[in-house]
Parts: sequence; C-alpha cells; structure tokens
Amino acid sequence: MPDPALRSAASPWWQDRTPEEITVLAAADGVALLPLAAIEQHGEHLPLSTDLDIALGLIDAALPRVRAGVPLCVLPPLAVGLSLEHSAFAGTLSLRPETALAVMVELGERVAAAGFRRLVLFNSHGGNKALVDLAALKLRAERRMLVVRANYFRFAPPADVLPADELRHGLHGGALETAMMLHLSPGKVRSERIGHFESLGHRMAAAGQFLGPEGEAGFAWMAQDLNACGAAGDSRLATPALGARLVGHFAGQLARLIEEAHAFDLARLADGPLDRSG
Ligand SMILES: [Zn+2]
Repeated sequence: MPDPALRSAASPWWQDRTPEEITVLAAADGVALLPLAAIEQHGEHLPLSTDLDIALGLIDAALPRVRAGVPLCVLPPLAVGLSLEHSAFAGTLSLRPETALAVMVELGERVAAAGFRRLVLFNSHGGNKALVDLAALKLRAERRMLVVRANYFRFAPPADVLPADELRHGLHGGALETAMMLHLSPGKVRSERIGHFESLGHRMAAAGQFLGPEGEAGFAWMAQDLNACGAAGDSRLATPALGARLVGHFAGQLARLIEEAHAFDLARLADGPLDRSG
C-alpha cells in the first residue's frame, strides 16, 4: 500500500495537507512549488489578474503531465509581487522590493523547516525576476536547498508560433499573454480593446539602435515609457488556439522541471569551506 500522503489523487495544494503528510512528502524527495505572480495593469484589454491567472493556469495544466508518484506540494500563490514599473496605472498593487524579497525568502525558510530541500519558484511576472534570483541564491547559501528559478517567459516558446519581433518586444499584454488569457479565462478579455501597442523597444530596434529597454544593454523602464497605454505588443495576433498551444507547451516544460527537481542529486550542492569548519 503506498503511503496515503503520496497518493497521486491527493490534493496538490500545500494547505490541504496535514503536518504528518507534509513530513512524508518532504522525506520522499518532495518538490515544493511557490507560484509568484502580480496584480498589475495589463492595458485596457486584460484584467489586473493576468499574471496570476496565467501562473495558476499553467500549474493546472502541468499537474496532470507530472509523472505519477512524484511528490509535489503547491504553496499558496504570492499573488502580489514587485510591480513598481506599473505603479502609474490605477489598480496596480505592489510590494516594495525589500518586502517582496523578504516574503519569498521567509516562505522558503518555512518550506525548508518542514524538511523540503527542493523548491521551484514558478514566476509569471517579469518584474519579479531579479527577486527570484536573489531569493533563490539566499536560500541556496543559507539552507543548501535546490531552488529553481522558473520564469515561464524565459522558457523557449514553440518554434514559429509568433513573429520574432513580437516575441522580443511584446513584453506586456501583447500576443503571448493575450492568447493565453483567451484560452484560460476568455470572459476576462475585453476584446473590443485589443490592439497593437507598439513598444519603444521595437521603434529603437527598427532604428538600428543597440540601446533599448531590454536586450543585451537595456535601461530601466516604467510601463508608460514603452507605450503610453501601458501594454506593449500586438495583441491582435492572439487567438484562443494559440493560447491553448502556448499553455500546453509551457505546462509541459514546467512538468519536466518538477520531475527533474525531484530526481536532482542534492550531493551536487556542496557544503562550502565555512560550513565544513562549523
Ligand atoms: Zn503579465
């Protein structure tokens, strides 16, 4: 009889478990996954919840793709993140960078205290990326955990799914996010407000400039710098079918990451010289 805590039909949510079940899952090389999102403006065609809806939609789609028997616990999502770059627009919520970093690290510490050594930070918001890097490094250094920095927008998209220009400059509320929302939550998309929101980055690249808001040497930007209406990208290219394809693709990559985090040999995370002396 497999341990009931490991039953594949059991809830994936951390908060649905009991202390004993959490201990069993952790001891079985379990993986904890922390969804990181944002509540922020995405122009007038998408809701403030866009990043949260995408994070949870990708996790929902990934779970059935994870090999049975891989112990997994999904923590309650951190719905609000660091959205300073969108603060000029009504409705955007944001934590200060120091606060958001502290929350991520402190949640990671509780996950470690429960016995987990494998944590996936699954992030759907570009503005959280620097914090994900720092939180992962702090937890690695202080707790010797495997901490995966899983920003889905950094996963390679399916080939030929969108023009290279749109993938590069459609950073926010463009074709990619709008398509996934048309698939995951079509009732929330204000179709009549869909449009082409040309990014400053696109205009600078078209003028042959090396400098731009993103890329090898990017400058810090506020959303209104990219386009006055807050979105950047061509949301007219979005369709529900494209959204379904993107969600399936990114969910497959997330499922694979979870399996590989479960199988990772923790002996590869060596103690440093200071730890050995202590
Ligand atoms: Zn977004």
